[in-house]
Amino acid sequence: MPGRAMMRAYDVIRKKRGGGELSSEEVGFLIEGYTSGEVPDSQMAAFLMAVYFQGMTARETSDLTMAMARSGRVLNLSDIPGVKVDKHSTGGVGDKTTLVLAPLLAAAGLPVVKMSGRSLGHTGGTLDKLESIPGFSTALDPDQMVSQVRRVGIAIAGQTADLVPADKKIYALRDITATVDCIPLIAASVMSKKIATGGDAIVLDVKAGSGAFMKTVPEAVELAQTMVEIGKRTGRRTAAVVTDMEQPLGRAVGNALEVREAIETLQGNGPEDLVTLCKTLGGTALVLADKARTLDEGEGLIQALIDNGSGLEKLRELIEAQGGNSRVVDDVSILPVAPIVVPVESPTSGWVTRLDAFQVAQTTMVLGAGRSRPGASPDLSVGIELRAKTGDSVAPGSILADIHARDARSAESAADLLREAYAFGAQSPTPCALVHQIVGLEDTVTGGQ
Ligand code: URA
Repeated sequence: MPGRAMMRAYDVIRKKRGGGELSSEEVGFLIEGYTSGEVPDSQMAAFLMAVYFQGMTARETSDLTMAMARSGRVLNLSDIPGVKVDKHSTGGVGDKTTLVLAPLLAAAGLPVVKMSGRSLGHTGGTLDKLESIPGFSTALDPDQMVSQVRRVGIAIAGQTADLVPADKKIYALRDITATVDCIPLIAASVMSKKIATGGDAIVLDVKAGSGAFMKTVPEAVELAQTMVEIGKRTGRRTAAVVTDMEQPLGRAVGNALEVREAIETLQGNGPEDLVTLCKTLGGTALVLADKARTLDEGEGLIQALIDNGSGLEKLRELIEAQGGNSRVVDDVSILPVAPIVVPVESPTSGWVTRLDAFQVAQTTMVLGAGRSRPGASPDLSVGIELRAKTGDSVAPGSILADIHARDARSAESAADLLREAYAFGAQSPTPCALVHQIVGLEDTVTGGQ
């Protein structure tokens, strides 16, 4: 194999195209070259397509992850005591888990450092949701992030130019070359960001279903296993929970509406699925961080932090630290409110047998809650409150959902789309599991699970 100085991107692409296994040096050469601009988009696009068809071994995927993580700054949190935790979701509809879970984990005494994203395709983004809190800033530089974690135990910010620049460039290229839905590329993209932000323990929520990037449970399990393996190989305690995204999580879909639901959840009034998911993910994180011996014990601790209000207090501190109006945790009416609210009625009686998460997301896009093009600003006030979900019984004229819209026209188009998200039947459907599998806790006692 030639030394770095003699390597050519052409040869690396050709080797991968033919199904060969790349060396660490070859992977590093390509990523460094692409980040510096020596390797052009055309060659990286060809490489990504080769990976799409030929895949990568676990070792190559972990080398790709580390090369991407090292393409920019890597946060050093080693002088902050405790096991630093990070949480990541592969993206879903109505997924406001970070807003609930991150404060709960910080309240449990685990420093939380979280780099979040904006809405992507049909999926929502934590940064947009947080920005619906008046004054809240997600633009922290790495030094500000570290110092805030030291002071208040938690920081949630956006990706800055100096963190994982290779992922930013590669992600944009994948988006226009039909190479997004590729397990090694997704795994390396997610894990490189987790590694660059310096977490010791990483809990991943891998979604499966119509509203997720992974449409089936086996695909989601494969992605989960790939990321847990990367975590193992790079010395991070990692577990992945494979969860349902056939229907939206909770009842609220839309930025400010989701913040409201997250606050209500920390007040002890959350919807059952969201609470269950936060307990499973939180319990898993506590086991990884040695704060609980079993998943059951970890889940109990998370419930206690909801019940005694410490999660809500931590959210208040987080909002204050990032310039937001923390009164919102006592008074959600200061969040942006849509001008009109229109109910959508059930056309029939029976049971809701399906509520398609992707179709619900399309409805919120029509309302303006997402991004129609990169750089566009979402309307933070609009969205949907689901009153009937899969398994609920309905009667003609009963309310399926409330649409929060900026005007009557968009509300009407949204209502037409939302009706198509529902399917009805004469019999109650078999309940679908919320948590399909946990990967990476096999060596740990998982209590009742
Ligand atoms: N989220 C990421 O961060 N990267 C991907 O490739 C897909 C989802």
